[in-house]
Amino acid sequence: MKLQTCVLMILATTWLLACGPALSADSTPKPNFIIIFTDDQGYGDLGCYGSPNIVTPNIDRMADEGLRFTSFYAAPFCGPSRASLMTGCYAPRISLGFNHGPRAKTGIHPDEITLAEVLKPQGYATMIIGKWHLGDAPEFLPLRHGFDKYYGLPFSNDMWPYHPRMPVTENEDARMIAARKRAAYTGFAGQGSCYPKDGGFPYPLPLMSDDQVVELNPDQTKLTASYTQKALEFIAENRDRPFFLYLAHAMPHVPLFVSDKFNGRSRRGLYGDVIEEIDWSVGRILDRLKDLGLDDRTLVVYTSDNGPWLDYGIDGGSAGPLRGGKGSVWEGGVRVPAIARWPGHLPAGRSTCEIAANIDILPTFAGLAGARVPAERAIDGRNLWPLMSGQPDAESPHPAFYYYAGSPPDRPANLRAVRDRRWKLHLVPDGPRLRGTELYDLEGDVSETRNRIDDYPDVAKRLEATAQQFNDELQAHVRPLGRL
Ligand code: MG
Repeated sequence: MKLQTCVLMILATTWLLACGPALSADSTPKPNFIIIFTDDQGYGDLGCYGSPNIVTPNIDRMADEGLRFTSFYAAPFCGPSRASLMTGCYAPRISLGFNHGPRAKTGIHPDEITLAEVLKPQGYATMIIGKWHLGDAPEFLPLRHGFDKYYGLPFSNDMWPYHPRMPVTENEDARMIAARKRAAYTGFAGQGSCYPKDGGFPYPLPLMSDDQVVELNPDQTKLTASYTQKALEFIAENRDRPFFLYLAHAMPHVPLFVSDKFNGRSRRGLYGDVIEEIDWSVGRILDRLKDLGLDDRTLVVYTSDNGPWLDYGIDGGSAGPLRGGKGSVWEGGVRVPAIARWPGHLPAGRSTCEIAANIDILPTFAGLAGARVPAERAIDGRNLWPLMSGQPDAESPHPAFYYYAGSPPDRPANLRAVRDRRWKLHLVPDGPRLRGTELYDLEGDVSETRNRIDDYPDVAKRLEATAQQFNDELQAHVRPLGRL
């Protein structure tokens, strides 16, 4: 080959890599990925999951055009769930089995490989909009963990000076008065393990753009709309290259806020208004994909980080038929709505009761992007594509699912239940062993009302052994937390 020809080819290749759409081995464009991640939304809070009083036409359309999971799992609360989503691991495996508060001295370890870091070498533009919650020191923020851009709150929207548990002072401002009034009305002020016992959070809540704070204690009635606008802009900017957008809404985590347009619109009070605004947001995003001709190049996943925060009464969601809520390993705490839509690639209008979880997103997206799943470390998630794409007889890649509850830093992983296809065994620590205490038939009793452990002792023993074996392996290979 002549030198000139060779140089031209190199230049052409360089141009393609720099300017053209990234191509996978078979020359089809890599798919775009969007994860819409709501906060504390219950299993029963969408029309397509049976809500009797919240109207969600856009999310229901997603389900009509895609796949609806009915046994999709998250962790029981915010931080661990996001750790699982980002790394494909049960949260205690990476020492992130707890929620970070403001100005934390710890966070996700720099050696962890996030979903954004998996996709980036494949030419993906990456952005997170919304709640991160894996540490708020610069070392732990999204721009150090594979994201090109960030816009949002680094932790929960209630970790601010208007938390109703803040000590009462004279001449409180309107926001504080409103927060106390609402807490009195709903009957709960947030006595969770991550909340200071003697008060709330004295520091202002930062709204960040990349690594800069752009506003303190922002007007939360504008968050859903402003997050949506940022999402639409990111999609348009990256229409000609593969992108990964992680849209982690602040809502419907308390304190609930909604824009004027949606205030009072639903039949389910403020909580319903908030969900209906999120539904509007989903509609805008789907419309934008269609307008830009990206529908058949974009896999959109909608799911929640954990179940409803029932302690907040009417400001908490509903787990539908499931028992319990956020913070528990009853199904209502961890089984969440999950919908995947990708026209032309995912068959429309299907649902599956096979076990799947947010730990599976990383290996699934990696597989579709032609990216490498980190092989030198344990990843708990599995590639769901055979199941999602409707391959005949495809089953869950998980023979068992493990329900880890919260575990404070430097404490052992807290495995509280295990399930296989039909049976779920609740566990308690019994010295170094795990002992089954209650057994439920999830096929016949999804609400976990009738303990069958005395009827099926052999099933309990088998699941106990499965849980013990898995937990021993995990405990032996826990990876460290990032520390300042
Ligand atoms: Mg949450």
